[in-house]
Amino acid sequence: MAKTSNSRGKDICSFCGRSKKQVDAFVEGPGGVFICPECIDLCYNIVRQERKRVKGMSSSMEEVPKPREIKEFLDQYVIGQQHAKKCLSVAVHNHYKRLLHSELEDQDVEIEKSNILLIGPTGSGKTLLARTMARVLHVPFAICDATTVTEAGYVGEDVENFLLRLLQSADYDIEAAQRGIVYVDEIDKVGKTNQNVSITRDVSGEGVQQALLKMLEGTIANIPPQGGRKHPEQSYIQMDTSQIMFICGGTFVGLENIIRKRLGKKTIGFASEHGGHVDSKAEYSNVLAQVVPEDVIEYGMIPEIVGRLPIITTLQALDVEALIDILTKPKNALIRQYQKLFEMEGAKLAFTEDALRMLATKAIQRDTGARALRAITEELMVDLMYRLPEEGKDESYTVTKDVIKGTADLFDQKTGKAVKESA
Ligand code: ADP
Repeated sequence: MAKTSNSRGKDICSFCGRSKKQVDAFVEGPGGVFICPECIDLCYNIVRQERKRVKGMSSSMEEVPKPREIKEFLDQYVIGQQHAKKCLSVAVHNHYKRLLHSELEDQDVEIEKSNILLIGPTGSGKTLLARTMARVLHVPFAICDATTVTEAGYVGEDVENFLLRLLQSADYDIEAAQRGIVYVDEIDKVGKTNQNVSITRDVSGEGVQQALLKMLEGTIANIPPQGGRKHPEQSYIQMDTSQIMFICGGTFVGLENIIRKRLGKKTIGFASEHGGHVDSKAEYSNVLAQVVPEDVIEYGMIPEIVGRLPIITTLQALDVEALIDILTKPKNALIRQYQKLFEMEGAKLAFTEDALRMLATKAIQRDTGARALRAITEELMVDLMYRLPEEGKDESYTVTKDVIKGTADLFDQKTGKAVKESA
């Protein structure tokens, strides 16, 4: 059994060479070897990390979720977007398999990672898909915004901060982070635009794409542990990005016109340009679904990046029916949340079909997809929630079209001025 050494003057740590004078205690092993507390800590951490890695690998790899299982989980939260959900589920399943494969000795076939490009209008569920995916996975996950990045020398972040975020989500376990997934939002905003090209300045254009490209391809990145800008005196954490899967998302406004041009169709009418009406939305989604990598290159992404995003998936613009479903169906649907809040006051809340349709129609008019739903529903509910504890205990209420229009008062239902539900 090791014991604390009594100083004989020549005691130095057999691991780091520190002398007894520099540390408070030594542990002595048989044969005159010593270890200092710092090295004990270090060894402990190495062993712990290794155990965690082995355990993590085996437990997550044993249960590689099947694409169907991943999609079924996504279905609980994301309405519609069947094609995108399928593509993502398969890609993520393969990501796991590739990790498993790279752990194996025999590597006759090299499975390359397939990063994904998600294209779809604002508020169609790109970020939601990525975020929901993170919940089903056993690998670290980070969501980043490409617009925060600028080329070295300008005010902004370096792309390495994406990896820092991933590292943070892995609790600084570098091994785990190197197997993670990064969602890069607004990738289209770093495209070099064909119009208004500025030859003197490239604040977030091609230079940023080049930096992103290196990460997508696989590189040993130097990450500043505190984030922010890199500077020479800093020490860096080195991270290998070759096994990290990148999902990039963007709205690519105007891409549909490039596709139409290629397909030889003329831009159809006024409505489609403004994304206004239901028909034009369906038409837009149809056109968008026919995207090929060349269209994305013409849009302004450098070919190398597009080449590193072999899976391109599009999301559809959501219509009124989809928005009604979003209000009511997902596990965390807005309406369900408010019903729960009412329940906590002993009251019941219901919405008529008309009322839901009206909320959805109002949201469509704002043209920000499902994003507007939250704003509109909250505007309606804030007043009701404010009054609920005093005016609405232990009753059942139905939100009708008139309540949304403001021509009927929900709490008047109690006094019989509007439809009263039996409790
Ligand atoms: P974007 O495509 O712009 O990234 P988001 O994913 O951020 O859009 O969507 C904004 C919000 O709208 C989400 O938080 C979610 O509540 C809702 N939402 C959008 N699309 C869907 C969808 N397909 N199913 C369910 N909710 C959705």
